[in-house]
Amino acid sequence: MRALLLVDIQNDFLPGGALPVPQGDEVVPVALRLLSCFEVKVASQDWHPADHISFAANHPGKQVGEVIQTPYGPQVLWPVHCVQNTPGAELAPPLAQRRRELNHVVHKGTDSRIDSYSAFFDNGRLRSTGLEDYLRRRGVEELFVMGLATDYCVRWSVQDALELGFRTWVITDGVRAVEPQKAPEVLQQLRQRGAQLITSQELLERKPG
Ligand SMILES: [Zn+2]
Repeated sequence: MRALLLVDIQNDFLPGGALPVPQGDEVVPVALRLLSCFEVKVASQDWHPADHISFAANHPGKQVGEVIQTPYGPQVLWPVHCVQNTPGAELAPPLAQRRRELNHVVHKGTDSRIDSYSAFFDNGRLRSTGLEDYLRRRGVEELFVMGLATDYCVRWSVQDALELGFRTWVITDGVRAVEPQKAPEVLQQLRQRGAQLITSQELLERKPG
């Protein structure tokens, strides 16, 4: 069984949002096109409490982009984004309208004390989001990943998926990076770790499964 994983396609990561990923909106139509091709469709949502450790505003004197040391390692400080139950945390509107087609949605970054780039584990790998269990229960062995952003949450999710033993694909036209100039290098690194790269067009031309 194969599954589609849509990573953090949320208003705050789109142009006009609190933490916009350049051209992040371009992944939305790709996601919509692919929904009908998969039996198992899963999405992650960054879902922070207002006092979250990753917000520069919660560290007096610190600026967005600075890195702080935490018990789980270095933490980049971000603008306040994806606060639970705010419009910025909602899925992009066309995707939100089709939310019923999603079989499962995982919330991540819900603990104030630790960030969670990956859709599987927090950044200290202390707690699981339950995504692995869900996919195993559904008999998923092959995972197709797209969303935002290539260099953070997609990257960490793909790395965890590979480590967990899923056959993992990155949909190259379905991802955008916080730092676009680094995207090719990130994709190359993921490929070296065992991920396969595919375009949404190539995927659509394959037999649905
Ligand atoms: Zn976040």
